[in-house]
Amino acid sequence: MKLLTYQYNGKEAVGVLPATGDVIIPVAALGLEYDSMSELIQHATEEELAKLRTAAFALPIDGIPYDAATKVAPIPEPRQDVICLGFNYLDHVSESATFQEISIPGVPEYPVYFSKRVNRAVSDGGHIRSHPALDEQLDYEVELAVIIGRDARNVSVDQAEDYIFGYTILNDISARALQARHKQFYFGKSLDDSTPMGPWIVTADEVDFPPKLALQSFVNGELRQNSNTEHMLFSPSRVIAELSAGMTLKAGTIIATGTPGGVGSALDPPRYLRFGDVVECVIEGIGRLRNTVG
Ligand code: MG
Repeated sequence: MKLLTYQYNGKEAVGVLPATGDVIIPVAALGLEYDSMSELIQHATEEELAKLRTAAFALPIDGIPYDAATKVAPIPEPRQDVICLGFNYLDHVSESATFQEISIPGVPEYPVYFSKRVNRAVSDGGHIRSHPALDEQLDYEVELAVIIGRDARNVSVDQAEDYIFGYTILNDISARALQARHKQFYFGKSLDDSTPMGPWIVTADEVDFPPKLALQSFVNGELRQNSNTEHMLFSPSRVIAELSAGMTLKAGTIIATGTPGGVGSALDPPRYLRFGDVVECVIEGIGRLRNTVG
């Protein structure tokens, strides 16, 4: 099922989007008193999730017209840093060697982890903020985001799937000049309004594991990235097992699983995002995340 966060009549709430996609069923209308997606992920029981699932497939459906609601990222204010993978598709590893001061030679033996601060995620339809005074080399990165569903501690590779709540699309907007200048990803990845996420979470029961999903990005309608999550060098299972061996991955943790080749900074000549550009990230089975640089 699809779960989303939205605003209606000035109030932010969580809802289910049925297959028809035209209405939102507030979880409160189903007796679930969760004010945020983070709370729902942390506390919803199997019975409650089953109730939401039933509602998602029931007809006819009364609800809030989808178009009447204001879109919000599914987890608008993550409780913790977003965990990111740096080089998780071979074609991006190769292209990075040519343009980034931060790169690695050959095929990585271990995942490269870093984090991204997200004060407020950008919704589908929202604006990616350019920061021209800071960096004119703004770039896009389509990524499958894995949402952890319950606290993961010492989870084995085989068990990892059971800890995944669902998936969404994340555009890991990156300020390349800052990355190069500071020899680190953190600042350049964490500028305000640099993390579009959404449009919703698709729960894990609807995605075969490990995910083999086509993912693409477009700038002003032009295809830039085109790959499949099956080409990840390090699978979500590997990542969850490895990290949870040393750090608890709390329910609601977001893991951005890396981006494939085709980012703007690797093109010849580089093509960075400009004011007014429309960036679309598409992942099979999840949807389309569309944002304008503003
Ligand atoms: Mg990235």
